[in-house]
Amino acid sequence: MTHPVRNIIIVGGGTAGWLTAGLIAARHRSLIPASFKVTLVESPNTPTVGVGEGTWPTLRTTLARIGVSETDFFRECDAAFKQGARFAGWTTGAADDAYYHPLMLPQGFQQINLVPHWLAAGGDRSFCDAVSPQGRLCDDGLAPKTITTPEYDAVANYAYHLDAGKLGAFLQKHCCEQLGVRHVRADVRHATLSDDGDIRSIVTEQAGEIEGDLFVDCTGFRSLLLGQTLGVPFRDCSDVLFCDTALAVHLPYESEISPIASQTISTARSAGWIWDVGLPTRRGIGHVYSSNHISDDEAERELRAYLGPLGADLPIRKLRIPSGHRETFWKANCVAVGLAAGFLEPLESSSIVLIELSAKLIAEQMPACREVMDVIASRFNATTHYRWGRIIDFLKLHYVLTKRTDTSFWRDNVRPETIPDRLRELLLLWQYQSPWFHDEFDRIEEVFPAASYQYVLYGMGFRTEVEPAALRGDARLAERALRENAAQTERLRAGLPRHRELIRKIHEHGLQPV
Ligand SMILES: Cc1cc2nc3c(=O)[nH]c(=O)nc-3n(C[C@H](O)[C@H](O)[C@H](O)COP(=O)(O)OP(=O)(O)OC[C@H]3O[C@@H](n4cnc5c(N)ncnc54)[C@H](O)[C@@H]3O)c2cc1C
Repeated sequence: MTHPVRNIIIVGGGTAGWLTAGLIAARHRSLIPASFKVTLVESPNTPTVGVGEGTWPTLRTTLARIGVSETDFFRECDAAFKQGARFAGWTTGAADDAYYHPLMLPQGFQQINLVPHWLAAGGDRSFCDAVSPQGRLCDDGLAPKTITTPEYDAVANYAYHLDAGKLGAFLQKHCCEQLGVRHVRADVRHATLSDDGDIRSIVTEQAGEIEGDLFVDCTGFRSLLLGQTLGVPFRDCSDVLFCDTALAVHLPYESEISPIASQTISTARSAGWIWDVGLPTRRGIGHVYSSNHISDDEAERELRAYLGPLGADLPIRKLRIPSGHRETFWKANCVAVGLAAGFLEPLESSSIVLIELSAKLIAEQMPACREVMDVIASRFNATTHYRWGRIIDFLKLHYVLTKRTDTSFWRDNVRPETIPDRLRELLLLWQYQSPWFHDEFDRIEEVFPAASYQYVLYGMGFRTEVEPAALRGDARLAERALRENAAQTERLRAGLPRHRELIRKIHEHGLQPV
């Protein structure tokens, strides 16, 4: 090896920077500091975005892999459980228009696709309730596990809602104290390049010049290294996903014992939607909208109306959220993770999960030397392109299935030219066969599996043609699975604690360490 890769420089200390540092350092721990170094350089002056509050179940594995205790995580990150998302007003906008995208797979999913059986039985009951207990658990305000369930184990599959600012500080402490990550607080002014186009070093204001073998750009929307230094262009996706602005606010609970929702609530509005995330100490609420379809003042009025009297005078933070991603993610010896790679509206909390998947891929595929880096980079780019494409499709699915015609935002969203080709083809196919796990969602670590498509499609009233005679072969298996779901729903409803109560116990007693 003429140019071994030993010196990893991560620039940026938001969720992306610290998760990447943690995953790389945990994976290569035995080599640190003898022959391998991970340094995170973070500006003391530029704040992190600090919004991202909804996550995917993958974060459980990621935190366990980094080596933090789940109890400490709950106590220090103001974390709560997330069991899925409830979408209100997306299909018709009527008062009773709502469906769940839960995190549990449909009952018996590995053996049988229940969609055609549910459709053949009329398909009039909630698809989620017919095949999964989780919507009912959310409605009842229950937690997905008990105080005796070990750390990171689940009774019902779960992710988290969390305070992103606190997560960064929590990970920083662990990475520096337990995993040997070097933390440099300095502003990067510019990067220097070698003759072959690689980044040779970053030049900082407070800590001088820092050289490295591999640079991970986690500088947020700035994309300082990949975008600005290496000139990788931004691919705009606002022709598909229109939302480009967010208004965010923290709302206090009415009282210390108010229930905490364990689902993200996404309520459609005239030109976008409002997220509502319950943390133990407050709710995080925000309006994501298309500034081409509504003015900022009108968007704020819609948000204040949602907040009610408690939110009348609360300060609101406005963020521009570009819709899109870099044309490539790993160029030369620089790879971007997090907002530096791109951003899509947070409708399905797809940003942090993509950070986890990218950071894990970098950690696992860490090139041994510069000579093989381009091979790894090209694999990374192919996988990451695929993932961005699937996230765009999945987010757009929520919009194309709407029957709302009340505003130009909803009407524009179903215009055929705004629908990606692959999604259009799948929608055609799904008229005749429902998505299942044999579908083409065949990649390892698919961000949204076929089950997610089922919940959104049939939650929003999509219909697939069913030939009842063709279902006779596995009718008994289907009946058994549907019965088992009803029984499991009642068992879990009787046995699980209230969400706030479990969080109180975790703070007081802790979960059983693994
Ligand atoms: C409105 C909104 C809602 C969101 N909701 C969700 C959600 O529910 N779920 C989800 O998964 N994601 C969500 N996200 C995305 C999520 O917030 C981000 O993916 C996550 O915070 C990662 O951000 P980051 O670390 O890439 O960037 P940032 O948080 O912006 O961090 C950038 C870092 O780079 C540093 N930096 C910048 N310039 C320099 C420099 N010159 N020198 C040194 N350091 C520098 C900064 O100091 C900072 O430490 C949301 C985002 C927005 C905007």
